[in-house]
Amino acid sequence: MLADPDYSGHPLRQALEDLVERVSMHVSRLERITQISDRYQTGVQERFRNLSRRYDRQISRLEKAIRISDRYQSILNDLNRALQEASTHDQLTGLPNRKLMSDCCRREDERVVRDGSTYSLLAIDADRFKSINDTYGHEIGDNVLIGLSHSLQSSIRDSDFCARWGGEEFLALLAGADLHTAQLVANRLLNTVRSTMIEAGDARITPRVSIGIAQHLPGETDPDVYRRADAALLLAKQSGRDRFVLASDPNISTSPASS
Ligand code: GH3
Ligand code: MG
Ligand code: MG
Repeated sequence: MLADPDYSGHPLRQALEDLVERVSMHVSRLERITQISDRYQTGVQERFRNLSRRYDRQISRLEKAIRISDRYQSILNDLNRALQEASTHDQLTGLPNRKLMSDCCRREDERVVRDGSTYSLLAIDADRFKSINDTYGHEIGDNVLIGLSHSLQSSIRDSDFCARWGGEEFLALLAGADLHTAQLVANRLLNTVRSTMIEAGDARITPRVSIGIAQHLPGETDPDVYRRADAALLLAKQSGRDRFVLASDPNISTSPASS
């Protein structure tokens, strides 16, 4: 109608022109708003995707960190266990070492004071061990020490305690044992050692040990008991080896050679 010349003088023509102009203005505004809204939507989606990617990356980093931390923790635990073992046990024989034995003796001292019971110590020393080393070499000597430690462990009860005291010397703590019981254990130990055989090439070594035995006396501490056991051990060496000697208070009596 607006383009048709027949309506050029029509009284509503101007009103129609105004209306068309206003409508087209609104349409173009609406289009702009729609464009802005679309751009905004796209931006939001892009930002969401970025955030989601970053979140996934952080999660996988965190999972990796947790895995590393678990592994690290378990390595630390293993190290701690190994350190603890190394500081309390002898490397060659795996037996408790002198420090652990000393702690154990101290606790035993406290126990006997508390409950009035007793214990005995066995000071055990390999006989003529130097000549085993000299004849077969240090490595075979080490094997003999390992063999002796096995004999020792198999001759005492689980509740007893036995340690490598140093060099070719061992110490056994027999909880609750009087001299009579300790003597039975020492006999068993001597017999087990006598039946032990260590291979050295074509040769077979049959080691022997001597033992000094002391029972804890009221008022004594473990160093006192050890001193008496060690003195008895010396007597066992002097009286022929491969035997035990009982330390008594105040006198020391010896057992027969083939005990
Ligand atoms: P006895 O019967 O009087 O005890 O004589 P022995 O030869 O056993 O005693 P001695 O003290 O003369 O010699 C002990 C030897 O033990 C000397 C030392 O080199 C050896 N020894 C100490 N520790 C070890 C060890 O860990 N491995 C080896 N192979 N030998 C050791
Ligand atoms: Mg010796
Ligand atoms: Mg010795």
